[in-house]
Amino acid sequence: MKLVTFSQNGTSRTGAVVDDGVVDLHAADPSLAETMIDLLWAGEEAMAKARTAAKSGRAIPLADVTIEAPIARPGKTLAIGLNYRDHAEESGQEIPKQPIVFAKVSTCITGHGKPVHIPRVSRAVDWEAELCFVIGKKGRYIAKEDALDYVAGYMCGNDVSVRDWQFHSPTWMTGKGFDTHGPIGPWLVTRDEVDGSNLDIKLFVNDEEKQHSNTNQLIFGIPELVEYLSGAFTLEPGDVVFTGTPSGVGVGSRPPTFLKAGDVVRVEIEGLGVLENPIVEEPAE
Ligand code: ZN
Repeated sequence: MKLVTFSQNGTSRTGAVVDDGVVDLHAADPSLAETMIDLLWAGEEAMAKARTAAKSGRAIPLADVTIEAPIARPGKTLAIGLNYRDHAEESGQEIPKQPIVFAKVSTCITGHGKPVHIPRVSRAVDWEAELCFVIGKKGRYIAKEDALDYVAGYMCGNDVSVRDWQFHSPTWMTGKGFDTHGPIGPWLVTRDEVDGSNLDIKLFVNDEEKQHSNTNQLIFGIPELVEYLSGAFTLEPGDVVFTGTPSGVGVGSRPPTFLKAGDVVRVEIEGLGVLENPIVEEPAE
């Protein structure tokens, strides 16, 4: 199932994408939650009802709605640094022995088709195509053998990075969470539909391929990440994890190249759709 957050006439709703339409899940079955995060908290039973509702409900053409970030404001947005060997090498960094974890602040989250800002304070805005997974069940100290039971599904992500601000502090945090710098989507594909451990991942800037790898190249795979992260934090439904980017980022090219207003960045992950965002100067207000 492809779960989507969409808006129409100024209201935001949760839906399931069916062909080129979207079924409003709460309208089709009023027992289903109105927001994605509440739907995820409701667990497997709600997912089963959502599948039924997706089959029976009336589909609104996708062309008539606006796609929003699947999860508007995740409780946690965690990200993994240097999790592809080739990207660690292009960054001149050692292969990590434990996952390198940082947070993207939740206000950076945005959706497919939404503008990504070149901020007033920097020109060094870079792209990072990433597989994101979304937590579907609350847990702590989750063994990697059980990890996939806690994953609701997958989506494309772009870990947009402001390279000068990233290195102002060793935690990278300021450069990783600027407003609009966390595009996710276009939708959340439930884990029964794809194998997150073997998905082709690509990124294009203005139709030029910049990154191309496969999630089978992750140094720490999804089960290992769930085990590691849940050793520190209670993972909750709607939490999002960016799993790291392969080689081909702008700062790694010679000379370094960065995004500018007018560019269009597109992340494509096998089975997860296309996440495309226009790059614009940050508006004045
Ligand atoms: Zn990243």
